[in-house]
Amino acid sequence: MARPKGVGFVWMRSAILAGATLFVSLAAWLIAGPSWGLGTLAAGLAVLLLRHLSSLAALVRWLDDPAAGTVPEGSGVWDHVFSALYRQTRGTREQQHRLTAVLVRFRSAARAMPDGVLILNEENRIEWGNPTAEQYFAIDLDKDAGQPIANLVRNPDFVAFLLRGDWNEPLMLRLSRGEELVLSIRVVPYGQDEKLLLARDVTRWEKLETMRRDFVANVSHELKTPLTVLSGFLETLADGTVPVGSPRGRHALELMHDQSDRMLRLIEDLLTLSTLESTSGPASEAAVDVANLLATVHTEARALSAGRHEIVLDVEAPGTLTGNEQELRSAFGNLVSNAVRYTPEGGRIQLTWWRRGSEGVFTVADTGIGIETVHIPRLTERFYRVDRSRSRETGGTGLGLAIVKHVLTRHQAALEIESDVGRGSRFSAVFPARRVRFRPAVVAA
Ligand code: ADP
Repeated sequence: MARPKGVGFVWMRSAILAGATLFVSLAAWLIAGPSWGLGTLAAGLAVLLLRHLSSLAALVRWLDDPAAGTVPEGSGVWDHVFSALYRQTRGTREQQHRLTAVLVRFRSAARAMPDGVLILNEENRIEWGNPTAEQYFAIDLDKDAGQPIANLVRNPDFVAFLLRGDWNEPLMLRLSRGEELVLSIRVVPYGQDEKLLLARDVTRWEKLETMRRDFVANVSHELKTPLTVLSGFLETLADGTVPVGSPRGRHALELMHDQSDRMLRLIEDLLTLSTLESTSGPASEAAVDVANLLATVHTEARALSAGRHEIVLDVEAPGTLTGNEQELRSAFGNLVSNAVRYTPEGGRIQLTWWRRGSEGVFTVADTGIGIETVHIPRLTERFYRVDRSRSRETGGTGLGLAIVKHVLTRHQAALEIESDVGRGSRFSAVFPARRVRFRPAVVAA
């Protein structure tokens, strides 16, 4: 195809052809007479007209289905016209291909996004969306594309947010179908009144935030009670109403001592929990001899019980347990201390290390007050107590089982709880096969 030559070229080509026809006709006139001259002129003009008409017809035909590859061929001026059309069509096609490629890339990127993306038109009808958005809003884009989003997400806060027109702050949208879903919704206007709606799942973050708030409130509350008692006694002693040396004064000092002990225990448990949470696995591990470990736990339990209970240790399957000795001692110690604290005087507490298939299990069974089934799933939550006053009276912090749960999780172990109100409880820490080694004699048995 020739390069474009412009309007001048069209005029010049036409003028040359017309001039040549006129020249030939004039020559015919001079040589053969006027009728030949006029005849030649008519024939020349007819040929020119026919060529134009046939090229025009080719152009009209092509316009019905224009494509770069099928632009007709022409000569003279028409060659110039067809070349220009060819270039233009090819340019448009290339641009279309580029745009399609950009669109495909954009859609596959939006499809892969972990957030929900919806494109809304000026009437807030859905134009396009990714699978995550379909899942979040429970919509089916094959069916729902073109529908107003407000008809599909019938939440008054969401509808008001869409209509607000000020989207600087995201909307926290709570949806509950089966399980709760909290979405952070952002709207970004673009183009001509179109909007990009972005939805991010913040359920976990919201839960953590609530837990954090509850935790701070709980700790403040737990510390406030003993501090109020302490400050009350200090006031009485300071203003001299009760002399420090008097029996009442000594009693006040004892109670103050109890309260400060309670605060210390709480802070120690909080520090233990924070250390457990700040690292993902036990700091150092070793094969711990179970009989030795449990003998220490047993001695501590007897000291805590001070003869009020019968405490029996039975290492049925001697061997080793791989883990962090200090953490394991703290977890087992908490289970045993709970058994002592929630078993009335004269009760029996049985500590057993036994083998269940290839697993190693440490069970603490007591004949204590027991726990109602509804409470069992929540016992390992921080500060969860069945009987608040009993826990306090016996020096509980409400963090013992949270610590146990943490330590066991770090050792890939599970906590199993069975209980009968008024009859007693069984707390079992179940360790996986790869953490336990039983002595050969036991394996054979
Ligand atoms: P606490 O310091 O209050 O004992 P824990 O986290 O150790 O906190 O235990 C949570 C709650 O579980 C206790 O407040 C108590 O109500 C209940 N609990 C734990 N162990 C026993 C048990 N052996 N018998 C009865 N109740 C128990």
